[in-house]
Amino acid sequence: MKRLLGFARQLNEKKISLQGKPFFEALRFLIIYLIVGIIWIMWSDQWLAAIVDDYDSFIEMQTYKGWFYVVTSGLLFFVILQSRLTVLKVLSDKLIHQATYDELTQLPNKNKLTQMIDSVIEDSETDDRYALICMDFDDFSNVNELLGYHIGDQLIASINRRVKPLIKEDDIIGRDSDGFVFFVDLKNYPEDQLIDFLEEIKKSVNQSWSIENQILFVTCTMGVSRYPQDGDKFTELYKAANAAIHQLKEKGKNDYHFFAQDYHLKRIERVTMMNELRKSLDMHELTLAFQPIYQMVENRIIGFESLIRWQSPTFGKVSPSIFIEYSEETGLIHLIDEFVFESVIRLRKDWCHGEYKDIMISLNLSAKGLANAQLMSKVESWVQQYEIDTRLIQVEITETALIANFDIAIEHLHFLRNLGFSIALDDFGSGYSSLTYLQTLPIDTLKIDRTFTMNIGLDVKQDIILEAIINLADELDLKLVIEGVENVQQRDFLLEHQCLYGQGYYFGYPTEVKNAVELVKKDFEEANGKI
Ligand code: C2E
Ligand code: MG
Ligand code: MG
Repeated sequence: MKRLLGFARQLNEKKISLQGKPFFEALRFLIIYLIVGIIWIMWSDQWLAAIVDDYDSFIEMQTYKGWFYVVTSGLLFFVILQSRLTVLKVLSDKLIHQATYDELTQLPNKNKLTQMIDSVIEDSETDDRYALICMDFDDFSNVNELLGYHIGDQLIASINRRVKPLIKEDDIIGRDSDGFVFFVDLKNYPEDQLIDFLEEIKKSVNQSWSIENQILFVTCTMGVSRYPQDGDKFTELYKAANAAIHQLKEKGKNDYHFFAQDYHLKRIERVTMMNELRKSLDMHELTLAFQPIYQMVENRIIGFESLIRWQSPTFGKVSPSIFIEYSEETGLIHLIDEFVFESVIRLRKDWCHGEYKDIMISLNLSAKGLANAQLMSKVESWVQQYEIDTRLIQVEITETALIANFDIAIEHLHFLRNLGFSIALDDFGSGYSSLTYLQTLPIDTLKIDRTFTMNIGLDVKQDIILEAIINLADELDLKLVIEGVENVQQRDFLLEHQCLYGQGYYFGYPTEVKNAVELVKKDFEEANGKI
């Protein structure tokens, strides 16, 4: 009996596993039990009769025999069941451990952390405060990919040995994909002590590590979220801490950052907006508005600037300066650029005769669009397909488009110019502007940003600069368009300084294509003395 119980213990120690299929295992036991039972029933009475000769003793012994059978088989069942259940327990404990602890460091993994941290939060008092710190190694995949996973693993194990002693007794440390997670009771870190703790972690990671004769340098980025303000569950705090890492990684790495709610909302808003924009693009819900550009001396329309318009179901009318910036970040801008370019080429085709046959249409091309070779070949095929006079289409680009990818941008500007398009440098004078570009760029038109127009007559120095730009454009033989003309004083100043072309609310707001057509017709009739 003792031996049998010892066997069960051995199973545990030696981690013996269950072998064979459970059905056949059970069947084996059943068959043995039945055979033993049959032999017992068939032979035991004969053996008993051979030993005992008087009838009363025989009956008494038979009762003992019955009891013996029941007790022995019961014990046997107990031992077998216990040993089998022990194996199951060993295996299930092993599985649970594997599912909840990191094999490399033996630290709780994300599943276990969820349980542990949620139960700490559940048991907390109302004034308890905690911080969750997610630490991510910067570019750790480089270590794994360049040096191999075994080096990466050893590095993690070494870092674990160094950071683990930094935490206080009740704090929790766990492992997560590319780094570690700390959950600390803020009672232990009053005032700036949490910052000191973060600095300590940073310092202990930012060292040189020697692994298998390789000297490695590692940096880490940490995101911090706090209970209760950033969430009251591990998953929420974890999400917030990772969002904080994201916020920081947009600016740099190797530092720590506390989760900021409004920034996070902005990101969510951005994602929602981009999803909606994609749908709107698929459904062809984006439109173009057209703002007239005037030749100011004769007060005649010479062209229109096309400006994209989008009505979002959630955000209402969104300014292109916002959604264009977001779509440049997400790559959606390629679809927008294609849409704008093809729409303008089509409109130019529609306007190839009648009053508008000489009207120029200007379009805005994004920095990414200008660098996009695929778009360039599409433009070339549209030009052939629609058989348009490309001289009456102007492509507006900004200086940022040039800075981003100078060589390709210049190559594509030449390409567009060779196709016949005219090129305008938009928003000149806003942000980063360089006069040196003007000599070298293949451009025909300079569009002066409305920040200059706004200050006409208000800022003497700026008026002088504006005059200088007007003269410079003249000398370089560039057509000059002033944006943002809002009143008659501004227009008069520009006319006085020999500036020919203007665009702005004074002349007309961006409007639908059918109104633009009406404007051209009216302008044409006025010029021909019909009105
Ligand atoms: P932009 O190309 O400089 O366009 C001129 C902007 O100034 C337009 O704003 C226009 O409505 C506005 N504007 C015109 N006259 C006046 C005025 O007298 N006063 C004031 N305060 N504003 C005036 P919008 O349509 O909101 O576009 C903003 C920017 O978004 C554009 O600046 C351009 O950079 C970009 N954008 C617009 N449409 C497109 C497009 O189809 N593709 C690309 N890539 N960018 C576009
Ligand atoms: Mg423009
Ligand atoms: Mg502009």
